[in-house]
Amino acid sequence: MDADVVVVGAGLAGLQSARRLEASGRSVVVVEAEEAVGGRIRTDVIDGFRCDRGFQLLNPAYPAVQRWIDVEALELQRFGVGATVRTGDRAVTLAHPLRHPRHLLATATSELTPAADLLALARWLGPTLLRARTASRATSDETLRASLDAAGMTGRLRRDVLDTFLAGVLVESAGESSANYVRLLLRSFAFGAPGLPRQGMQALPDQLAASLAAPVRLRTAARDIRETGDAVQVATDDGIIRARAAVVAVGPDRVGELSALPTPPTHGLTTWWFRATGQPRTGPFLLLDASRPGGGPAGPIWNAAVISEVAPSYAPSGEHLVQATTLLDRPDGRASEADVRRDLARLFGTSTRRWEVLTHHVVEHAVPAQLPGPIRRGPVWTSERVLVTGDHRETASIQGALVAGDRAGRAAERRLSGRS
Ligand SMILES: Cc1cc2nc3c(=O)[nH]c(=O)nc-3n(C[C@H](O)[C@H](O)[C@H](O)COP(=O)(O)OP(=O)(O)OC[C@H]3O[C@@H](n4cnc5c(N)ncnc54)[C@H](O)[C@@H]3O)c2cc1C
Repeated sequence: MDADVVVVGAGLAGLQSARRLEASGRSVVVVEAEEAVGGRIRTDVIDGFRCDRGFQLLNPAYPAVQRWIDVEALELQRFGVGATVRTGDRAVTLAHPLRHPRHLLATATSELTPAADLLALARWLGPTLLRARTASRATSDETLRASLDAAGMTGRLRRDVLDTFLAGVLVESAGESSANYVRLLLRSFAFGAPGLPRQGMQALPDQLAASLAAPVRLRTAARDIRETGDAVQVATDDGIIRARAAVVAVGPDRVGELSALPTPPTHGLTTWWFRATGQPRTGPFLLLDASRPGGGPAGPIWNAAVISEVAPSYAPSGEHLVQATTLLDRPDGRASEADVRRDLARLFGTSTRRWEVLTHHVVEHAVPAQLPGPIRRGPVWTSERVLVTGDHRETASIQGALVAGDRAGRAAERRLSGRS
């Protein structure tokens, strides 16, 4: 036997399940197809700029992050809790009144925050703000769109702000995600200030990997998994690994390759990374575009940010790094560079002719679709010794991936010790 457990995939879920198993005294081999750990959380360093493979943020308020991550060591550079919303030729910053009192008046008096919407939002979200279990253990669920409609939240706070912001977070613009899941997400935004680690988002999986007893075997894709009596055999690019159990943590688009489970639906996005000239400014806030009459962006970009303003470590001194995100569920999700550049010029009110594209990432399967229904399904045994996990078995987030991995580690431990 090469190990007690072989873990396939070194994203957050695979790494956390390996950690949990090692903490129980089990020997673990982790194999990863790519040349580095991290899965959907990777950072490219280009000319001194840190470009994450798809713009994403770490929310330190996630319970799993608080429990298992040394957040201090990541040196988070935090975004403001709010957003700057562009509507036509105006831009207004709406922000959390307690964290950003400077923006209180503008937030309270903006036409984007009508009283009826604020009241409806308080009714819709209030119980979950007070108790997370209200949403996580709710027995009924529906789409975000239907739920907000039913709550009477139909004004500009919904159309121009919430829908636009959430489309970027959920990576879908139709409002088809689970309302209960969105309540939990908004709760974590209310209690935390998301940010970017000093070394880039990849510092998060790197931290998990560094705590493992044995290094992850990189460039070692698993090709086949089969059970043989009292063992499981994982055929990899580097030979066969024999273990007493396998945890498959490969990401939703790959699940079908190593198990008989159906491939979960996913949502995708594109992030463009620009070296900007001039002084583009958004302060510490995400810039949302709601310039289309009736809500949503007038161009392909749903959100943008001057990353270097929030996270100076993402750019060489004196340089400006801008990200722009488009959604692949829209026809303009694959907009050309020229179109993205034109849209940025409109959003920032400045010429972008001399802005230089550092890279752009098309992430077809950024997150599993979080459809209405039970929020947590947990890892699933597909045979006596093979367990499948990942964010697609929990929630479509860093929180979900960490919890998924931890639960898989515990489940594998229980089986190995004859307790299940
Ligand atoms: C662009 C983008 C933006 C996001 N924004 C946010 C955000 O702001 N906040 C948030 O909480 N979450 C966000 N997420 C979601 C979050 O990043 C994911 O939920 C999480 O990283 C998923 O981790 P995972 O371990 O489940 O899967 P993955 O990270 O996909 O890990 C699976 C691993 O398995 C490996 N693998 C696949 N096949 C094989 C094989 N045959 N053999 C060996 N290895 C294999 C892969 O290479 C990969 O490393 C975002 C994701 C993306 C892509």
